[in-house]
Amino acid sequence: MRMLIGDQWVDKEEKIEVCNPYDNQPIDTVPSGDIEDIEAAYQAAVEGFKINRRLPVHQRISILYRTADIIKTRQEEFAVTIASEGSKTIREARKEVSRCIDTITISAEEARRVIGETIPFDSREGSENRVGYYYRFPIGIILAITPFNDPLNLVAHKIGPAIAGGNAVVLKPATVTPLSALKLGQALIEAGLPWKILNIVTGYGSKIGEALVKDPRPRMISFTGGTEAAQRIISQAGLKKIGMELGSNSPVIVMDDADLEQAAELSVSGAFWAVGQNCIGVQRIYIHQDVYEEFEDKFVARTKRMKVGYQLDESTDMGPMITEMEAERVERWVKEALEDGAELLTGGKRHGTLFQPTVFRNMPSRAKLNCEEVFGPVVSLYRVSSLDEAISQANSVRYGLHGAIFTRSLDHAFKAIRELDVGGVMVNDSTDYRIDMMPFGGVKWSGLGREGIKFALLEMTEPKVVCFNL
Ligand code: NAP
Repeated sequence: MRMLIGDQWVDKEEKIEVCNPYDNQPIDTVPSGDIEDIEAAYQAAVEGFKINRRLPVHQRISILYRTADIIKTRQEEFAVTIASEGSKTIREARKEVSRCIDTITISAEEARRVIGETIPFDSREGSENRVGYYYRFPIGIILAITPFNDPLNLVAHKIGPAIAGGNAVVLKPATVTPLSALKLGQALIEAGLPWKILNIVTGYGSKIGEALVKDPRPRMISFTGGTEAAQRIISQAGLKKIGMELGSNSPVIVMDDADLEQAAELSVSGAFWAVGQNCIGVQRIYIHQDVYEEFEDKFVARTKRMKVGYQLDESTDMGPMITEMEAERVERWVKEALEDGAELLTGGKRHGTLFQPTVFRNMPSRAKLNCEEVFGPVVSLYRVSSLDEAISQANSVRYGLHGAIFTRSLDHAFKAIRELDVGGVMVNDSTDYRIDMMPFGGVKWSGLGREGIKFALLEMTEPKVVCFNL
């Protein structure tokens, strides 16, 4: 596929192969973007911003609705692209496509709700004759940088609200999964989005990231990815607004009054969805000692039933990890934990990019598998004697995206809601729950700001005050 820069689809001699992570077979190529492409993309975006800020809101709405319709008619094609370039099974990929349709549709709906309010200027003595209001205007050019694990919907979460709010976008998708993003770009152009509003530059973050980030033309950087790249981007960005959607090692608490069947079933799904390469994936489960054994049995039995394999087979429950390098990293972390005394209950083995769903108990608190984000199919079970202990351990890490509690007690639920240091608490659900209109984001090292269309739109627009001195 080609990059989208200005009013054309651009090819280059130097290409990047996009491979299926299952067998490393190439499925397509994209151009390897460079400094000249970045310059062209920003020049186009400057023009694109002039176009979109003047585009009547009803036209932006129509374009976004049409885009959602186009994706709807090609759902299976989008799903196959997601599952071929990435880790998701075809069934998981279909869910992502339907979420993306939601995201674009909600962007159309929210475009008509970018509103302001009147200001009571006469609330200050001496301002009796003043009347006025504020309204929200677009922030300008937004640099969007996206990760591999939801290659379509996380792109939609940036492009949808950016367009709805009247901005222009330069997007850099993850190098291993650029095809879904380019397909979304095609759908937008086909739906009538004027050229130059959206520009998609493919290329390695390590090669073009700095030039993209340091450029003074974007007014905002909207980044989703890991903390390492996030730190580098923050240190290079200069005077820009920054939105950061980062990782976590999400905790789930299972109390002695929980429905253990429900807790086990939802936690297994939350732990191994997308091979655990999921920012709200379940990584640490704190179980009340009175139900520990029963929960462990149920959890491990369900985990053992998962079928690992080719992600495009309908019957596969868990596909390959995104690269062999990532699978090897997880293998190293597992080995380190074993050497440190952690007890393996099931899994732990790797074959190429395929990693068995892995469950530990007695994980030492200093182990990477406890304190860092594993971003792979490994989960640890911990025995706790009280809710206080569970919350204190859940909060003992530097991340805080989602937390969850399974309980039938309102007191337990509200205590967890109050005391978990996270951006969202799920009650009787795993941490892996999200719909696209809710505010989404984390505290501590899990990020800055919130996405979820309405909330992204607030970040991507600014209030302008108007005051008449009568
Ligand atoms: P990543 O390695 O941080 O990459 C994310 C994006 O940043 C990619 O497009 C990457 O380009 C680019 N990039 C890397 N270095 C850069 C630099 N110096 N300057 C500019 N851009 C740079 O993350 P990933 O492995 O794709 O995704 C996994 C991470 O994303 C996990 O930590 C996960 O928790 C997080 N995540 C968070 C959310 C959320 O909403 N909170 C959602 C999904 C994922 P290349 O691909 O070319 O390296």
